[in-house]
Amino acid sequence: PVPVVAVVGRPNVGKSTLVNRIIGRRQAVVEDVPGVTRDRVPYDAQWTGRRFTVVDTGGWEPDAKDRAGAIAAQAEIAVQTADVVIFVVDVTVGATDVDEAAVKMLRRSHKPVILIANKADNQNLELEAVSLWSLGLGEPHPISALHGRGSGDLLDDILRAL
Ligand code: GDP
Ligand code: MG
Repeated sequence: PVPVVAVVGRPNVGKSTLVNRIIGRRQAVVEDVPGVTRDRVPYDAQWTGRRFTVVDTGGWEPDAKDRAGAIAAQAEIAVQTADVVIFVVDVTVGATDVDEAAVKMLRRSHKPVILIANKADNQNLELEAVSLWSLGLGEPHPISALHGRGSGDLLDDILRAL
């Protein structure tokens, strides 16, 4: 079976932008408005000849109710059914309480997690990524999903984790 990589994180951190970067085409919907991706959306991906499925999810928020709660539940299902989880944090914002709550959910899943410090568009922001060691998920990977900075290294790391 083709391995599955789930992309989760708060709304607006750049999950869908990262998914497009990974699959090499603009298929996942990117929006300035949070909460556009409602379900789990799988895409075929390939890197150095290896195939995998990358699953985009809506924003994960703790204790969310109604529609937001349904979106968060989908993200949790995506985590539970993934082989590897990519957890995306916005390095221009830093780790928030919601990110910390998401980490607890990820710990419970016992899945391997790759921590992404997204929106590291320049070297200064890349250096900011070290602050995310505080999340306890190991080494933060600074990338700019928008500009492609660091994305080749990330794909190598994804394949190593599969
Ligand atoms: P999602 O809600 O987590 O899926 O986030 P989106 O992928 O829809 O992106 C939300 C906003 O962040 C959009 O305006 C993106 O263009 C922007 N964005 C995503 N990645 C980056 C990045 O690496 N750098 C910057 N500066 N903006 C980004
Ligand atoms: Mg999205």
